[in-house]
Amino acid sequence: MSLATAPRPLRAVLIANRGEIACRVIRTARRLGLRTIAVYSDADARARHVREADEAIRLGPAAAGESYLAIDKVIAAAQRSGADAIHPGYGFLSENAEFVAACDAAGLVFIGPPGSAIAAMGDKAAAKARMASAGVPLVPGYHGEAQDDALLREEAGKIGYPVLLKASAGGGGKGMRVVESEREFQAALDGCRRESRASFGDERMLIEKYLTQPRHVEVQVFCDSLGAGVYLFERDCSVQRRHQKVLEEAPAPHLPEALRREMGEAAVRAAQEIGYVGAGTVEFLLDAGAETTQEHGSPFYFMEMNTRLQVEHPVTEMISGEDLVEWQLRVAAGLALPKAQSELTLTGHAIEARLYAEDPDNDFLPATGKLLRFALPLESADSHERIRLDSGVEAGDTVTMHYDPMLAKLIVHGEDRGQALAEMARALAALDISGVTTNRRFLQRLVTHPDFIAAELNTRFIEHYHDDLF
Ligand code: ADP
Repeated sequence: MSLATAPRPLRAVLIANRGEIACRVIRTARRLGLRTIAVYSDADARARHVREADEAIRLGPAAAGESYLAIDKVIAAAQRSGADAIHPGYGFLSENAEFVAACDAAGLVFIGPPGSAIAAMGDKAAAKARMASAGVPLVPGYHGEAQDDALLREEAGKIGYPVLLKASAGGGGKGMRVVESEREFQAALDGCRRESRASFGDERMLIEKYLTQPRHVEVQVFCDSLGAGVYLFERDCSVQRRHQKVLEEAPAPHLPEALRREMGEAAVRAAQEIGYVGAGTVEFLLDAGAETTQEHGSPFYFMEMNTRLQVEHPVTEMISGEDLVEWQLRVAAGLALPKAQSELTLTGHAIEARLYAEDPDNDFLPATGKLLRFALPLESADSHERIRLDSGVEAGDTVTMHYDPMLAKLIVHGEDRGQALAEMARALAALDISGVTTNRRFLQRLVTHPDFIAAELNTRFIEHYHDDLF
């Protein structure tokens, strides 16, 4: 069924984002026959997403608060352009329940879950309480309402050090601190509260057992508005720097089939518990080493759910052969999921590397400037199937300091992990880029590191091999 004749007809979509994800959404929307409308700030007036959309509307000055985060301006742009729906991408307004309410009030389809589902997962403490009641395993810890210092210290003692203090309202790796012993507890609590208040205007904390060498394994889920839900397997995003992902891959190496199914089913249960609709990701910590023994029950623990399309969704697209943006548009139009669980298959192995405009030799300071060259020369037509460059910039574009410094994502697919790794090394070397400093060499060192090749993965990989990588 076409989107124009679906229960909630879609003919034109406004993309309330910028950079690579705006370009990514435009690509699929156009293929499905939708008119695409971009929005931009003054810093992006000539940006690639503006050039690629059918039309573009200015939101305001460069500051995100006055442009990409300005709910009233985005809604006004959608109304002016005659859009039926808004795709929020990731970041910006993508997990903002107030924005969803504004879309509803304006009669616009928000391409994402209901506001109530976003709100249910927006607060880490509330989300954990909800997941516990749905029978989803949690990291041992405290996520109660009482927040006085003495009680938190007592709870930390009960959990056992080391513990992780986390801002309940936190995100993006902010407002988190590892506490090694009771002696450090008070100072860490004060610091974490301060950071959380400054970043999120909220100082509630939760405490978790700090797993010393976990893997970050997340499950891609999809639900439609008719009540069906499926998982599109998992991604391993253990290679992180300061709790931010650098490399992602699918499937998770060495994950036994039974555990894959168990995690997938738990993730769907988590989504259905909150009345989820659309694309979502349920993040788990996997106890490294425990995944093969399973001596102590489930070795995976719910961490949080991201209620949007993720940066790393392309690795899932590569191994499943599905277009997740197409799925999002179909579900938003009120159609059923394109496939049932039994029809989904996992083929080969995919890896994504995030290419940032930043200087690894200078504490990863964001880099700016004019991109003089930016291309990925491909040797054969066949390479198109195996190598994908999702980018928001082209040669000649200027990289500013206003937004996230991610320039592009390089995604490769191989018959197995070894082949995918070889493809990635080849693609990183072939990338023709100059004018702006990037983390390319850092990525090259990572993907050729013997322990990464051996899939010895855990979230402290970069920290652990610091001397090899710099
Ligand atoms: P955010 O919302 O800020 O991204 P998350 O709760 O998703 O925070 O955690 C981000 C990262 O921090 C995880 O991917 C993992 O590497 C690490 N982490 C989170 N919780 C724990 C824990 N209990 N033990 C060890 N590492 C953790």
